[in-house]
Amino acid sequence: MSELRQDPTTNDWIIVAKERTQRPVQFARTENRAPLPEHDPSCPFCPGNEARTPPEAWAYRTGRANEQGWWVRTIPNKFPALRPEGSLERRMENGLFRTMQGVGHHEVVIETPSHNTPIPFMPDGQVEEVVLMYRDRYLALRDDPRVKYLILFKNSGERAGTSLLHPHSQLVATPIVPPYIRRKHEVATQYFDNTGKCVYCEMRDEELRAGTRVVLETERFVVIHPFASRYPFETWILPKAHHPSFGQIAVPEAKEFARVLKATLLKLWKALNGPDYNYILHTIPLKDENEEYYLWHAQIIPRIAHMAGFEMGSGIYITTALPEETAEVMRKAEGE
Ligand SMILES: [Zn+2]
Ligand SMILES: [Zn+2]
Repeated sequence: MSELRQDPTTNDWIIVAKERTQRPVQFARTENRAPLPEHDPSCPFCPGNEARTPPEAWAYRTGRANEQGWWVRTIPNKFPALRPEGSLERRMENGLFRTMQGVGHHEVVIETPSHNTPIPFMPDGQVEEVVLMYRDRYLALRDDPRVKYLILFKNSGERAGTSLLHPHSQLVATPIVPPYIRRKHEVATQYFDNTGKCVYCEMRDEELRAGTRVVLETERFVVIHPFASRYPFETWILPKAHHPSFGQIAVPEAKEFARVLKATLLKLWKALNGPDYNYILHTIPLKDENEEYYLWHAQIIPRIAHMAGFEMGSGIYITTALPEETAEVMRKAEGE
């Protein structure tokens, strides 16, 4: 029989199709990736091509802006979803259809000068610099009063939505709180109002007690395959310290997060033979940064399963993997 499971952080249900469950090894890529050069002269993110991108917003570097000498570089997206100019005024068309200008920020963090070194294979110090850049840009963009929410994410590989191979991630600052995020926060707020506790901390502690879905535990972080995972090998990184906002983390926590992120992505790489994946940093809306109901966390989704009609029509995901089994594979996979 299949089993329905409910995610306590969203109230969403998923279906574990037990008859169709695949062994974790069956999710791995079958072809190996073609090796990439260390430097690609045609890549706009490679050193020497700084003039081919919009002028940088921020960089960790020696030398002058928009020249070589950087080790992490943030630029405005050349084809942004949102731009810094404009107003927040809503307009109505025909009394029903609401519009507003595409105000906000859309930045790209170029994570390394090396064309062929993704996070799992970077030195620890370089991943730390990437995470510190995330934090710097988060803190810089939150000063724009029109910004309501910040989404940090990474698309790695074509199935994850990018054809640019040079390691990079993105930051979008939106002029609205996205309704999907509101819903996630509503569930957490209600839980907090009912119990006086944060549902994410409760979930983390419960997963630690159960143990079967824990991938990795460090001094400050816990990595799990959640009880109601929507996708095979969906992986969450939860901090132990209760900070609602990613922008509130201190430098030592940011550095440890970098090492945990790297170890987790390396384990995924080994377990699934270099899958395409997305990750998202979930945080609280800027106005709520001092509210207690939420815990920032990272979600990593390997793109090995497709969303089909049932998922689109119902919001109920069918998964053919058991998180208890995939977590065990991840625990055994090499992470450093
Ligand atoms: Zn490159
Ligand atoms: Zn918490």
